[in-house]
Amino acid sequence: MSFEELGLSAPVLQAVTEKGYTTPTPIQEKAIPIVLMGRDILGCAQTGTGKTASFVLPMIDILAEGRAKARMPRSLILEPTRELAAQVAENFEVYGKYNKLSMALLIGGVSFPDQERALEKGADVLIATPGRLLDHFERGGILLNDVKILVIDEADRMLDMGFIPDVERIVATLPKIRQTLFFSATMPPEIKRLADRFLSNPKEVTVSRPASANTNVVQGLVIVQDDQKRDALLALIKSQEVKNAIVFCNRKRDVAALHTILKKHGLNAGALHGDMSQPARTETLEKFKAGDIQILVASDVAARGLDVQDMSHVFNYDVPFSPEDYVHRIGRTGRAGKTGHSFTLATPNEGDLIDAIQKLINTTIPRVEVPGLDTALLEASDGRRRGRGGRRGGRGGAAPERGRGPRREHSEPREPRESRNEQPAAAPVQAEAAPAPDVQQPRSEPRAEAREARPDRPPRERRPDNRGESRGERRPEHRSEPRNDSRGERRPERHHERDDGNSPKGLGDHVPAFLARR
Ligand code: AMP
Repeated sequence: MSFEELGLSAPVLQAVTEKGYTTPTPIQEKAIPIVLMGRDILGCAQTGTGKTASFVLPMIDILAEGRAKARMPRSLILEPTRELAAQVAENFEVYGKYNKLSMALLIGGVSFPDQERALEKGADVLIATPGRLLDHFERGGILLNDVKILVIDEADRMLDMGFIPDVERIVATLPKIRQTLFFSATMPPEIKRLADRFLSNPKEVTVSRPASANTNVVQGLVIVQDDQKRDALLALIKSQEVKNAIVFCNRKRDVAALHTILKKHGLNAGALHGDMSQPARTETLEKFKAGDIQILVASDVAARGLDVQDMSHVFNYDVPFSPEDYVHRIGRTGRAGKTGHSFTLATPNEGDLIDAIQKLINTTIPRVEVPGLDTALLEASDGRRRGRGGRRGGRGGAAPERGRGPRREHSEPREPRESRNEQPAAAPVQAEAAPAPDVQQPRSEPRAEAREARPDRPPRERRPDNRGESRGERRPEHRSEPRNDSRGERRPERHHERDDGNSPKGLGDHVPAFLARR
């Protein structure tokens, strides 16, 4: 099918052609005609599938007629992180270049007055993170009674981050008669219930099964002792044809330590984690996207939504605590039809974490040997799963400067798991893909299958927020974007990352050019 057959207008088609897209992705093929018909959508799709254009393109056409009044946006797109919000805004810029739609982007870390000015001028499209939108709403800077189209993107991420009460409050202020497009990478029961409340006779569109791993990613699992992880990573980076890569660590202090190690080994590396200042994060990210940094060592702040063209590799220096994070991390590569590679370093006693991942993706991740390093085996899982921050790696780690990998410092009790898969034998796997010089490559695996629910989702926490408590609402403690106080100052106390047991935050305050122009 071609874009022309989807019913989009000539200006939008022109912009799509100039962007270089020739064929719609499956989600675009399915969703665009339905959105143009004015129907609600329940979309189950991950980032990387072309999901953003599937709602942005038809919205441009729907909104082409009409004009927004001051402080009364005509459409609203809710995103869980600043970075995703900024990327959606960039999409509107690119695809809407031949339309005269006005936009406003309301995200944390950016001054209120600029955002208020954008609202004052009238926004056909309002793209926001829930917290900042509510801040504007409560200051009386915005009225939502004119919203005709609502997009809730990455709903499961909103749930993870504790934003659902905010989303519910926002939706309660919208007109009942509207078009709602609801997207989520997974459809756990809580999300399905929410969708049932927000949507009216929706058309369901699913393009990849919930929580399935991207089949364009050739995965590999390296089992090494904790003190060999650094050498294993360096050997992998050297032996693979790494165009650009993200190396994920579970803890931000490990990000910094590993970054230093990679630089000492002459690699062009950068670091990204939530303790960095916003300008530093934005600058690093932009350098990485521009190809000025080859290897980005990052915490899970980079696991979702980061859209870097043609990223060749993802390395999990640590096995993520949550299997869903594994899916999101490796989903940074293998995007837009390209093949990507992911390698995960696990220590022998991380069998339970690997087990949970393999159960989720319904695939055995092929073992890969790194020549020169001892082959280790995963120890038999005890059927219990470690929580975030649990000490792993039997011997612990030494300080990186003494030649060992970063280590975790906190320990917490293990959580019981419902069931487990048997660990496959740790055998070297021959390559199906083109073999690298001295690493045995993983073979490609059959498509991963669905998992309907997330029984292991961590409980969400109360946010000590007076507003919510005074209304008897449950409020999350942390949000992706820092809230500003009445003077526009950042409130740093909500800045935490996963290694502290909290949710990851959004990235960057990259403000697309349209805001600067306004
Ligand atoms: P998304 O799922 O919206 O994050 O998009 C993932 C990537 O696919 C982005 O880099 C888009 O620019 C790209 N993309 C979206 N639609 C198409 C298409 N029809 N053809 C090729 N690439 C696309």
